[in-house]
Amino acid sequence: MSDIIHLLPDHIANQIAAGEVIQRPASAVKELMENAVDAGATEIHLVVADAGKALVQVNDNGKGMSETDARMSVERHATSKISKIEDLFHIKTMGFRGEALASIAAVAQLEIKTRKADAPFGTFIDIEHSEVKTQEPVAMNPGTSIAMKNLFFNVPARRNFLKSNTTELKNIIDEFTRVAMAFPEIKFRLTNNNQEVFHLEPGTLKQRIVQLLGNQYNARLITVREETDYLNIYGFVGKPETAKKTRGDQFIFVNNRFIRSAYLNHAVTTAFDNMLQKDSYPAYVLFLDLDPSQVDINVHPTKQEIKFEDEKIIYAFVNSAVKHALAQYNITPALDFDLDASIQQLPAVTQPFTEEKRSAVSGSSLYQTFTQKNQAHFIERNTGSQSNLKHWKDFFEPGEQPAYVPAPEPEQQSIHLEAAEHRLFQVHHTWIVVETGEGFLLVHQQYAHQRIIYEKLVSLGEGQKMPVQKSLFPATIELSPSDAVMLHELLDEINQLGYLIEPFGNNTFIVQGTPADIAQGGNERKDVELLLEHYKHFGNQNKLSVRERLAIGMAWQQGIKPGHALSASEMNNLVTDLFHCTHPATSPAGKPVYAKFDKEYLERMFEKG
Ligand code: ADP
Ligand code: MG
Repeated sequence: MSDIIHLLPDHIANQIAAGEVIQRPASAVKELMENAVDAGATEIHLVVADAGKALVQVNDNGKGMSETDARMSVERHATSKISKIEDLFHIKTMGFRGEALASIAAVAQLEIKTRKADAPFGTFIDIEHSEVKTQEPVAMNPGTSIAMKNLFFNVPARRNFLKSNTTELKNIIDEFTRVAMAFPEIKFRLTNNNQEVFHLEPGTLKQRIVQLLGNQYNARLITVREETDYLNIYGFVGKPETAKKTRGDQFIFVNNRFIRSAYLNHAVTTAFDNMLQKDSYPAYVLFLDLDPSQVDINVHPTKQEIKFEDEKIIYAFVNSAVKHALAQYNITPALDFDLDASIQQLPAVTQPFTEEKRSAVSGSSLYQTFTQKNQAHFIERNTGSQSNLKHWKDFFEPGEQPAYVPAPEPEQQSIHLEAAEHRLFQVHHTWIVVETGEGFLLVHQQYAHQRIIYEKLVSLGEGQKMPVQKSLFPATIELSPSDAVMLHELLDEINQLGYLIEPFGNNTFIVQGTPADIAQGGNERKDVELLLEHYKHFGNQNKLSVRERLAIGMAWQQGIKPGHALSASEMNNLVTDLFHCTHPATSPAGKPVYAKFDKEYLERMFEKG
């Protein structure tokens, strides 16, 4: 038998490795912006075209590169940021692996223009298939401009995996937001297809939050600040009334790096305790600073997970810092909090402090939290937050969303409604009892209606439009910048589905008309925001199209709610329409629409005993 193992050619090995770092346009946004920050820039301009698929460019006024460094920068493992392994433990820069530019060079066309302040002119380099095609002097201001063009032009299989422009643009805005949030002292701009989306002047963190997340947080942010010799926390939480039904405005940074941590999210959210409405998420932007040797630095810089040496104490720290902040602002009554015994057992609490350390930290309120009993804002004992702790995973895991499950086909065929037209009965203004040939069904009126609306919207053909009711007094609505970008992208679709919305510049839109079935007047902004929230919420489910995602939101918006009395003919129409649907058994969000009670089942039920 012949041998079958061979070495991969370099360019293929490079493309595979590059795929880890650059998966989508937003990955390049993150890498290029972080490089600009590392270069000490005070102004950073991100320019994208075609949702980054055609162009992702970052211009900065940082320290620039020499001619040789510019050439070197695209080699794999070429970095100016570390030179020995010990450096890893003191890292203060965003990047250090020297992979980003090499990866971009492997999967896209790359153009670098760079000039150091003391150089008379800059260098221009043009790279394709990881090879330098041109290098020549160029006149420019000091700084660097790096452009990634035609992502995956040489890896069509990957290009096909890119999502719709709306989704990729949303990912770009998310990455932009994370970097811009962490450096409020830097001026950032984002231009998409020649339109300025963000223009962020340097300022305080509070100003930056409002610039990025929207005016609704203006004067509705509460400062969180605790300092110890172990770690510091600084940032803001939104007042409880600003909590939203979907996530998106939650940010935790560790040493200025955005991280995802279900565990820490739980620590923040439980601190709000019962101040929040069910299933709503408070906004927060929190910066944890700790000694890099306490954080597992081996974490890949493109990933967002992070390991702490002592997770538990960081949880307790974050939780009590937020509680403290809420208590100080008189948001939470300073009631019966009590120091949790398990917290007192943690090494950082029980370890003897040196005299010097003690005086340094004893003034901090966190220190007092951990050492004095019966103070406000302490960790509750045996109450909700503790028992919730073991469920923190379910709480924040992405799996929490109901999956979209089309109903099994055979189901509908076995239901014969013909004889049942006049045998409908509403129970508790929520369910409808429907007699069938085989027994009866209990139909959930809201989910049934959602299913009907959903299928109607999804099956709408090209050129067809849902009826609009024109508003006598069109409402002007202002959205957060990222919602505004999203609405722009979705406008054609939304307008086909019954809205009449026109852009009015500066994150503002005019709602000229709304779907014929929804109540008019005053709720336009909330309605549109909730629609977008639904759209985002179902964004992780790749199989859904833009239309389907919008239709889920519209079905939810327009479906009759429980508690609504229905006339006999309304019930009749509802049930008839439901069973004309292709998938009557599940709601668009995956909830069961009806429960079936067969005669045999009913008979057996009464044969017992
Ligand atoms: P890393 O950031 O991990 O060092 P990169 O591939 O992102 O690796 O960048 C390689 C090197 O190129 C950096 O270490 C830095 O010296 C240089 N570099 C990249 N972008 C810039 C920039 N915008 N300004 C100045 N130098 C840069
Ligand atoms: Mg880098």
